[in-house]
Amino acid sequence: MSSKTMLQQALTRFFDAAKHLNIDPTILEKWEFPLETTHARLTIRMDDGSLKSFRAWRSRNDDTRGPTKGGIRYHQSVTADEVETLAFLMTIKCAVVNLPFGGGKGGVQIDPLSLSKTELERLSRRYVQIFSKVIGPNRDIPAPDVNTNAMIMAWMANEYDSIVGEVTPAVITGKPISLGGSLGRDDATARGGYYLLEYLAKDLGFTPGARVAIQGFGNAGSHIAQLLESAGHKVVAVSDSKGAIGGPTGIDIGQLSLAKERNGSVTSLAGAHGTSKIAADELVSVDCDLLVLAAMEDMVHAGNAANVKAPIILELANSPITPEADEILKNRGVVVIPDILANAGGVTVSYFEWVQNRQGYYWPIEDIHARLKTKMEEEGAAIWASAKEKNITLRSAAYVHALSRLVDAIY
Ligand code: NAD
Repeated sequence: MSSKTMLQQALTRFFDAAKHLNIDPTILEKWEFPLETTHARLTIRMDDGSLKSFRAWRSRNDDTRGPTKGGIRYHQSVTADEVETLAFLMTIKCAVVNLPFGGGKGGVQIDPLSLSKTELERLSRRYVQIFSKVIGPNRDIPAPDVNTNAMIMAWMANEYDSIVGEVTPAVITGKPISLGGSLGRDDATARGGYYLLEYLAKDLGFTPGARVAIQGFGNAGSHIAQLLESAGHKVVAVSDSKGAIGGPTGIDIGQLSLAKERNGSVTSLAGAHGTSKIAADELVSVDCDLLVLAAMEDMVHAGNAANVKAPIILELANSPITPEADEILKNRGVVVIPDILANAGGVTVSYFEWVQNRQGYYWPIEDIHARLKTKMEEEGAAIWASAKEKNITLRSAAYVHALSRLVDAIY
């Protein structure tokens, strides 16, 4: 494990990318710390009448290209460093796919499973009360992230409306469709990654009937599993926080989703439909054609990168590969489709939601899919070409791509 903070690790990649561009170095200095980070205490009444307090953050990394945008995460290991790093990655990601946003992120240090539904609602409403001056449809626009969902976004949007005294759907994205959410937001992250894979398939050598291992079977992981299965690929291993299963002839994703919904873990399917339990840390070293990382940060690190057998990795999670592991994978010829491009479908459809909220006019699903596909293909093609031309990794090329847009907006 590196001694650098997560933000410093992420910045290393950014500053390395700058070497490929002729930039005034003083321009880059501002990214060493965020535009603003608010750290607050959320105190809520629990169902038993007691009071409990939780640490919470909202970080706005940079608003050079537009209002800041990024999810809110509920997790027991959330820290200021994590929130600030994820906000930084959002700045880069929005520039990669050319959205008129900067990066933001929020988090609450809480295990959401420890709360009842009413406690979760009070916590989410409290978050908005505390951060109501930070967020806003032209300032900072939250969205779901790990352990937050459309229902939480609905509570938050409703709380914001009562504070400002008017209906303001564009303050938050990832809302339920009935409250101004966009069609296609639920699977947008996975779909964006999938469109990219299909588009680059020939260059990547990603052929029909590929064997895929997926780490994380939440929103991003379960949707990509469905899309890949529908396209004729085989999901041969999958994991979640409770364990992993393998199924060499292909795991039935419909059955897997049912098992996970009923019993809370993918491992509950083990023993049925040709599947069996495997060690959770074996997931990244499963023999397959594509490894999809859709769980948490730092899952592929210096200690396990050499065991990866997949020739292609799709990063749907944010920062799932450490810089040390990146180097090992590069030297071994593993192609990594980086988070700032691979999972940008989520923020792209969030952007579509924000646009639709402001227009008060809602687009059919075909339009959402077509616009998302075009976006992923255009930016993917440019980054692929730049990586080839400069003989650098796709991650470096994506950083260069983003940085040139950010710098353009500063001069
Ligand atoms: P989620 O909470 O729906 O799913 C996360 C999944 O990862 C769960 O199945 C969980 O059990 C699993 N997991 C947690 N720890 C694990 C471990 N140690 N090993 C294996 N599995 C583990 O979250 P999500 O929305 O799918 O997000 C997953 C990742 O994708 C995060 O890094 C998130 O920031 C990123 N992301 C998500 C979106 C989105 O639209 N949902 C957009 C961009 C990026």
